[in-house]
Amino acid sequence: MIKIKQISPNIRRVTCPNPSRFTFKGTNCFIIGQKNLTIIDPGPIIEGFIPQLVNALSGEAIHHILITHTHRDHSPAAKELKQLTNAKTYGAGKHQTYRSDIPNPFQNSGDWDFEPDVTLQDNQVFTCDNLSFKTIKTDGHCYNHIAFELSQINDKNTQDAENALFIGDHIMGWASTIVAPPDGNMSRYMSNLYKLQNCNYNVLYSAHGAAIADPKARIAELIKHRLKREDEILICLKQGIGNILEIVKINYPKLEAELMGPAALSVLSQLEWLMDKNMVTSDAGLSIEANYQLV
Ligand SMILES: [Zn+2]
Repeated sequence: MIKIKQISPNIRRVTCPNPSRFTFKGTNCFIIGQKNLTIIDPGPIIEGFIPQLVNALSGEAIHHILITHTHRDHSPAAKELKQLTNAKTYGAGKHQTYRSDIPNPFQNSGDWDFEPDVTLQDNQVFTCDNLSFKTIKTDGHCYNHIAFELSQINDKNTQDAENALFIGDHIMGWASTIVAPPDGNMSRYMSNLYKLQNCNYNVLYSAHGAAIADPKARIAELIKHRLKREDEILICLKQGIGNILEIVKINYPKLEAELMGPAALSVLSQLEWLMDKNMVTSDAGLSIEANYQLV
């Protein structure tokens, strides 16, 4: 049985049963509104999950499905949910990568089939029944990543909107976000973190893990973390250590073997960002095998 939790007067949350070391307890699917509902991120394809969700919400109508981004733990269930409810889907376009000149280790993590009924742009205000949302482009973890600000609830029976941002995978409380080129891009990821630094949201609802009650503090922490990782890489490069696997061994000394790959991709994305800033060059483009040096 699925467990739906009321987390605020207008918001319910159900965590999809896809826990893993990359999804934490599973993907958070949010149910917003009363009677006329909007769903954010219905999650991966899990047999029986969507029919159970629809069943649990019987007596209410699901009209809108919002997708933060097209990774396979977020968007694929939209298809089944749409078939069962005739709801309209919204998202920032189809899945794509930032560049096509390097292999994509996240090829199988993308939901290449999803195509939204409504393609959203940045800073777009749109209404779903009595709810008003505003989009905040937050690409970097994924090319089409978008966050949804719940800006207004036009219903005299409910309280005002709670000044919340549904932030997807861009900011999470339990871990830092995976940014792996060419599926992700560190320069875009960081500029969107900096952009949100001055936000005044009361709460961030992440797609994995608990809500973030102090957004500014968490954002500051995440920026600091990436800058520290960058410093560590620069120290290696200064010492003439320019091979990614060597850098991983030095900067992640206690890493389990299973996490070597993700750590290498994280270093790769930091190096891409340094190359974007013209601080680093490589002898063989952007790749795990290349040797990197300071400019
Ligand atoms: Zn994702």
